[in-house]
Parts: sequence; structure tokens; C-alpha cells
Amino acid sequence: TPAVMWFRRDLRRRDNPALAAAAADASVVPLVVLDPALLRSPARPRDAAFLTAVAALREELDGLVVRAGDPREVVPQVCREAGAVSVHVSAETTPGGRRRDSDVREALQAKGIDFVETGSPYAVGPGLVRTGGGTPYQVFTPFSRAWNDYGWRAPAEMPPGTRFARGLDSTDLPAPADLPPEAIVTETQALARWAAYRGDLLEGYAGRRDRADLDATSRLSTALKFGTIHPRTLLHDLPVGERSADRFRTELAWREFYADVLWHHPRSAWQDLRPALARLEYDDPSVDDEAAGRLRAWCEGRTGYPLVDAGMRQLLAEGWMHNRVRMVVASFLTKDLHLRWQHGARHFMDHLTDGDIASNSHGWQWVSGTGTDAAPYFRIFNPITQGKTADPGGDYVRHYVPELSHISGAAVHEPWRVAGGLSRGYPERIIDHAQERAEALRRYAEARERS
Ligand code: FAD
Repeated sequence: TPAVMWFRRDLRRRDNPALAAAAADASVVPLVVLDPALLRSPARPRDAAFLTAVAALREELDGLVVRAGDPREVVPQVCREAGAVSVHVSAETTPGGRRRDSDVREALQAKGIDFVETGSPYAVGPGLVRTGGGTPYQVFTPFSRAWNDYGWRAPAEMPPGTRFARGLDSTDLPAPADLPPEAIVTETQALARWAAYRGDLLEGYAGRRDRADLDATSRLSTALKFGTIHPRTLLHDLPVGERSADRFRTELAWREFYADVLWHHPRSAWQDLRPALARLEYDDPSVDDEAAGRLRAWCEGRTGYPLVDAGMRQLLAEGWMHNRVRMVVASFLTKDLHLRWQHGARHFMDHLTDGDIASNSHGWQWVSGTGTDAAPYFRIFNPITQGKTADPGGDYVRHYVPELSHISGAAVHEPWRVAGGLSRGYPERIIDHAQERAEALRRYAEARERS
């Protein structure tokens, strides 16, 4: 009897332990479900990336069955058609995914079909790394040490001679919107990028990763998001004790940490993780027109602060933004514009190809001071000095903000100081950073007094 392999956030053929488990003693029916609860539109960058990864998997796995609908109905239906008695998956770890899987498991079990989880999108499954006392880690550094000690399995090979069942109906895949040429999505693209990156750029990672104007980071976040490459594959290739490789491993550990935090605190997907700032006063764009206008200017990259605007326009153009710039624009939204982090997190989820609930919401909470960092509220990024450090020659800003392309060098970060700097349509600053910084600190002190 065949086994169904239901692909979700693991859209690859290689190093896929769940696929290997499905293939161990049966022919495999490879299945992807297009769930309308998750897929909003083939034009949304994240959905476009998912559909692109599925289309590539279909090329790799002859006979991939694609069905649209609620997995609670579709998965049992496919089992019935195929005569399968087991469904294999790589475990889902987000709150919504866990809920759905528990429903699907129940529906299958009622029909005598096994639901088998092997591995997860992480090197170490969320929830497994614990303190000596058995409690979850609250802080990154001790987590990352324990995570390293916990260790991970070696990359898995596909068992030779895997057979795929054929003959089940499949729906057409909606055509995804075109992705920018920089996007690395499919398994083939991810493996090629990793090989090139390891060979050439990894060595400079520690020193150059904060430079927005250089091709210094791996750009593998979208491939990791959809599992076209697994972190285990990357970790396996990283030497121990080399500064840049160690740093890269640490960044992968952040991804695992945030998934672990979400596992233990499912509500932190959209709510403050730490209640300490519950009484902080925010502006509310749903009732305050000025706040709404500032939020719109931020979303569109028209704040008058060049690094912020370049980042927001990179997001709209490429579905991706450099990590340092994500931090700066997030700080700007929460501390200079006094808006709740959820407004920014939602915009990111609508436009990032790598949009991931654990990394995104906790990345936002880290910056806004409501998350896992212990004392961050008064760390308020200065968008101008950050610009000069992350983009010292100004190339990043000029690339994304054509109205500033006539200003050379670092002066592009302060166009208001350059004669004719604002003459090509670049906006005036919507707020004064020094003033809003003081205002943010005032609100913070007040919130602490009230709580
Ligand atoms: P590299 O520097 O090459 O790092 C390698 C991998 O490590 C990344 O692909 C990613 O999987 C992981 N990683 C690196 N930095 C972080 C980090 N700070 N937190 C978690 N994982 C990390 N990352 C997402 O994948 N999805 C998101 O939705 C997301 N939203 C973010 C929102 C904010 C406000 C902030 C500050 C960060 C966010 N990040 C998110 C983390 C980080 O910005 C991206 O993972 C990184 O920029 C991706 O580029 P890269 O693949 O070239 O990273």
C-alpha cells in the first residue's frame, strides 16, 4: 500500500527525513495542498514564492499531486483514492499549523490511517531545548549554547529506488507573480546559492553582514522558510571555530530560538511577549489621521529619512530587506512614529517572500522592546548614523531612491544639508528624530511609572 507524503514547509527532495520515512517501505504519493486559509493571492510575494517552490518540486517529483481545499478534507480524500494507510509530514510548529495538524490527525485516525511526523523545519525541533530544570529558555545566548550542545542529525539521503505512485488527479497550479531576479526560492537555486556563497562570501560574513550595500548575506531566508533547503544542510557545511562560520551558525540559532519561543508562547505571534510595556502610550492610526498618514509614508518609503525609505522600497521591489535595515525601519516605526509593532509586522508579512511568523513577530518585538531582549526600549536607532554605517558610500540608498541619485557619497543620508538635495521630489522629513526620540523616552518613563 502506498504512503502519502504531504509537503508543507519542506518543499525539497534532498535531505528530507519525512520523505525518506514515507519511502522506507512503500511507494509514495507526493501531495501538496493549496489551502485557501494560507494562500491569499498568487500576487502576494510569499504566496508567489510558495507556488514557485511547488512548481519546481513538481518538476523534481514526477507525479506530484496538487489539490486545493481544506486539508482536513483533502488529505483523507487523497488517502481514500490512493488506498494509503499512512500520511507522512515534517512536523509543523506554528500555532495555526499545530491546530490544523491535530485536526487532520484526528480525521485520519477515525479512518484507521496513521499520521507520522518526522523532523521539522528546524535543526532541533522547537520545544526540545530546555534548561536543566526542564523549563524553556527566555534569553537567546544560553538557548544557543544548549541548542548547539543538543546537536542535529546529519543530512539524510533519499533511499535509493524510491517509487512514486502515479495516476491521481491534480489541479492546475495558479501562475505565481514574477519574483525579482535576486529571489532564491527553489531547491536548485538554494543549493547553487549555498555552494557559491560558501565558496566565496561566507568568509567575510562576520565583518560584512551589517553592510546593506554589499552582497554579504546568504539570502537563503525564503528557501529556509519554505524548506527548499534545510538548516541541517547548512550547519553540516559550517566549520567550527571560524569567526564567520560561527557567526552564521548563530544567526541560524536565532531562527531556531524564535521558533522555540513561539512554541512555548503561541500568543506572542501577535501579542506582546512581555507585558512590561503594556501601558505604553501609542498613536493609533485607526482614529488619528496624522498617525495614519505617517504609517502610510513609512509603508511607501516616503519618510524623508533615506535609509528607512530605501529599505521600505527594497521591500516593495524585491520582497526582501537587509537585516540591519529591517531593524532600523522597525525602530523608526515603533519609536519615532510611536506606532505598535503589529502595524509594521503585518506590512512585512504582506510583502516579504521570507515572511515567517516566528522570525518576523519576534524580530519586531525584539526591536520594539516587548520581546526577548531584556532592556532594549531605550535603544533607539538613529536612522542617519545607521545609514552612514550600513551604507557608507550611499550606494544602497541611491539604488532604491532615484530622487537622491544626484547626491554622491555619504551625503545622500542627509539630503537636506545638500544644496538642491530635495530638488528631485524627495520628501521633507515627516518627523524630527531627536524630538521623537525624546518623546519615546518620555512615554517609556511614564509607562514604567504606571505599571
Ligand atoms: P543571513 O544573514 O544570510 O542569515 C542566514 C539565515 O539565518 C537567514 O536566512 C535566516 O533564516 C537566519 N537569520 C538571520 N538573522 C536572523 C534573525 N535576526 N532572526 C531570525 N533568523 C535569522 N527573517 C525571516 O526569515 N522571516 C521574517 O519574516 C523576518 N522578519 C524580520 C523582521 C524584523 C523586524 C527583523 C529585525 C528581522 C526579521 N527577520 C526575518 C530576520 C532577518 O532579517 C532575516 O532572516 C535575514 O535578513 C534574511 O537574510 P539572509 O537570508 O541573507 O540572512
